[in-house]
Amino acid sequence: MDKSRRKFLRTGAAFGIGSLLLPSFLTSCSDDNVLFADKSLGGSRVLVIGAGVAGLYAAQVLRSRGADVTILEASDRIGGRVRGMTLGGTRVYDLGADRLRGDQSILAQLAQSRGAQQINDYSVGNVALDDLIESPNVLQTNADIRSLINAKTALADYSGADITVADYFNQTGVEGFPEMREWLTHDAGADPDELGAASYATEKARSKAGNTVHRFEGSMAQFVEQAIIDPVRDLVQLNKVVTRVDWSGSTVSVSLQGGEEMTADQVVVAVPINILQDGDIELVPGFSQARQAAVNLIGVGEGLVALLEFNDRFWSPGDIIGTNAVTLYRDMGLGIEGIPAVLRAEVYGQRARAYSVIDADVVQIFLDELDGLFDGAASRNFSNASVQDWTSEPYIRSAFSYSSPNIFSARASAATPIPGKVYFAGEATNFNGNHGTVHGAMETGYRAAIELLQMA
Ligand SMILES: Cc1cc2nc3c(=O)[nH]c(=O)nc-3n(C[C@H](O)[C@H](O)[C@H](O)COP(=O)(O)OP(=O)(O)OC[C@H]3O[C@@H](n4cnc5c(N)ncnc54)[C@H](O)[C@@H]3O)c2cc1C
Repeated sequence: MDKSRRKFLRTGAAFGIGSLLLPSFLTSCSDDNVLFADKSLGGSRVLVIGAGVAGLYAAQVLRSRGADVTILEASDRIGGRVRGMTLGGTRVYDLGADRLRGDQSILAQLAQSRGAQQINDYSVGNVALDDLIESPNVLQTNADIRSLINAKTALADYSGADITVADYFNQTGVEGFPEMREWLTHDAGADPDELGAASYATEKARSKAGNTVHRFEGSMAQFVEQAIIDPVRDLVQLNKVVTRVDWSGSTVSVSLQGGEEMTADQVVVAVPINILQDGDIELVPGFSQARQAAVNLIGVGEGLVALLEFNDRFWSPGDIIGTNAVTLYRDMGLGIEGIPAVLRAEVYGQRARAYSVIDADVVQIFLDELDGLFDGAASRNFSNASVQDWTSEPYIRSAFSYSSPNIFSARASAATPIPGKVYFAGEATNFNGNHGTVHGAMETGYRAAIELLQMA
């Protein structure tokens, strides 16, 4: 076996590819201590499909090894599910990913190396129970809610049958509390009846990223722009919708909407997994039946985010949980001096799907709900809003992937490369427990680049 391949396998086995530290060749000019230091991609033409974090990061690694890279992006913007918008003057808020989940991830390490300031993100200020606002103490004092919270904590160690998390919660003997149940599972991107209990526990146990939750003092969008987009911005071609990847010949042919054809030595497919589930990109030859079944098994959740700006904070500082209309209203001003009162309303699962299908006026729905909870204060103080429905974004159509029942090896199957030809990246192909995250997407871009380099 070739020496570098042995090293790759050893390192992969010891840490899991996903837990590799930030590659030193991206932070210094030295090639010491780098996987495949003897390998170069000079002269290789690589097409990366999708300018989300996974594709962008793959491109950054591949370019650093001499590949001639082009990134084809279907939409008219770079960044995929990381997206910022300016609200209330000059401050940029996130409409997609905004939290750093864990302090041991490739993203956390990159943030640290660039001195990016972070703040703690978790603080419950208000709990809505039976349409009334209660203090956060109710999470401790209400025995039923406490049971559900304890059950969610214990879920990490669950090793029984792969029943849904809804059924797992039902085993606590606590009835009702649908909003609390959803709040407890929506950070995993799905409703309780969509998640597999054992699948969730198994995937969660694989992550070595850590359990801290921070966000940037600026925004995820600004950080990603500087650290992940800027180094490869010049490689991106926008409005290039890929429809077909044909790897049956000696090179790989890529067809685009409108009839354009491109060829490459290798291709990295870094689109959301539902794009492959729905057949938007035809692979020639196609996946085997078993592999397509594995791809289809990966759960894909819906999501909607609305930023609501107010002239004054009419709620107790901190997030508002347990409401009927949203999963969570997050207090975006908390921990940062002098910024406007902004709530980030997040909705996942069936409710997000429903809002999307009926194209609901969600801002009015959310204001009505907040008015009911806070005596009309929301409408009185409302100044501005911005909504991002990820489900209706034409080339994304999802929030993030989740641990559907029996998912166990499906992600690894979806991630398997067609050696020397086609490589797969994107958060849903992360089989180290970091799916559904920005750092997980980065890891898959890195993995795909290393797999490609391995064959050079
Ligand atoms: C509301 C929300 C909140 C989130 N919160 C967090 C969080 O707090 N922390 C966290 O770490 N993560 C969070 N995430 C998840 C995180 O945003 C994603 O895991 C990550 O950004 C996915 O990156 P990706 O590159 O895999 O996919 P994407 O970002 O989806 O990139 C894929 C790209 O492929 C393009 N594409 C699709 N089809 C084609 C085609 N046919 N041809 C060419 N291009 C195509 C798409 O337009 C897109 O730009 C959140 C996501 C959402 C939506």
